[in-house]
Amino acid sequence: MSGIQRNAAGAAERAPGASAAGKKKLGIYIHIPFCVCKCAYCDFLSAPASAEVMEQYAASLKQEIRECRELAEKYTVSTVFFGGGTPSILPGRTLAGILEELLCLLPAEPDVEITVECNPGTLTEEKLDSYRAAGVNRLSIGLQSADDRELKLLGRIHTFEEFLENYELARKKGFGNLNIDLMSALPGQTREGWLRTLERTAGLEPEHISAYSLIIEEGTPFYGRYREGAPGYSELPDEDTDRLMYEDTKRFLGERGYTRYEISNYARAGFACRHNLSYWDRTDYKGFGIGAASLLDGVRYKNSTELAAYLKEDFSYESVLPLSRKDELEETMFLGLRKMEGVALTAQLREIYGELLGKLEREGVLAQDRGRIFLTDRGIDVSNYVLSEFLLDEEMAGCGLGTEGKERNEG
Ligand code: SF4
Repeated sequence: MSGIQRNAAGAAERAPGASAAGKKKLGIYIHIPFCVCKCAYCDFLSAPASAEVMEQYAASLKQEIRECRELAEKYTVSTVFFGGGTPSILPGRTLAGILEELLCLLPAEPDVEITVECNPGTLTEEKLDSYRAAGVNRLSIGLQSADDRELKLLGRIHTFEEFLENYELARKKGFGNLNIDLMSALPGQTREGWLRTLERTAGLEPEHISAYSLIIEEGTPFYGRYREGAPGYSELPDEDTDRLMYEDTKRFLGERGYTRYEISNYARAGFACRHNLSYWDRTDYKGFGIGAASLLDGVRYKNSTELAAYLKEDFSYESVLPLSRKDELEETMFLGLRKMEGVALTAQLREIYGELLGKLEREGVLAQDRGRIFLTDRGIDVSNYVLSEFLLDEEMAGCGLGTEGKERNEG
């Protein structure tokens, strides 16, 4: 196929994964595993580190990028995402240096989306100027709550006021594509409290808002305090309240011009996060840094999480997993159904999942329209159940698929 299709309005658009000049699109993820201090609920791969370790890590990142320069023969970079950790903890010129190295070796599309995750309290004029000069055009700021009591409980390093200062500085420096991350279902949080956070956030008119529920991960300080019933940590909203908060979020943000395009993500028109969409569309991406994941030509890779080895430029993988046809089909449904537009139903998906789709439609958790299948509002409420239904057994996955079937979900 040409890679160019017409959308509903008749405008030309490229199919997911297709890029200019016949090259494939590539997303880039760069993991910065450093934070000022550890938040109480966090189980991400991140920790405090000295300035020296951070500079050494940046040098290793550049070397890892250099060792992958042959990707330029086949790909054009369409998105870059600095995630963590707290990428904005690095000096501005250090982060800019990594980005410059990357874009020098791996050419990017003219409208490449380049995001840096930032935490309030770590942004300065110098950093924002360096980002802009290097081509960063999107910031994702972790606010989580507009309530200082809740921020303290979560172990965040900032107050709402400090967030506001950083947010306004980013606007002043010309950033026109800002995301704010929020977290609901916090201990002691009421629906009214959550709505106040939404109101204060939407009042700032960011282009994008992500709203997730708190998950209490085993092994975190938060988990320990929750289990011990420490004051303030055990009064979690019940499941019904959690669900109502999700409904409040959709209604409230919808009224203010934000469209829900994924279970937990909302955007103004034209500002959906292209990098995250590429994960849900399963287009290729390459991750750099410890613990970073990649998907290249039907193989999933995960970098080793060993910081000491990485600093010595040992870029070993922790795992390399060639995907079977079964894995690909499961991922297509599992990831694609997270998007509100759902998944284009290919003949193969119909053949493999036809019976199940009928059952889930009768249950009212899935619906079909114009060749696509997607979650209904009820389906979103029970998305874990619906998505798990798409796990196949080996025998079924082989059905009608040829042993080397590698067809992708391109409609
Ligand atoms: S800032 Fe983010 S990555 Fe860092 S400790 Fe807090 S939650 Fe974890």
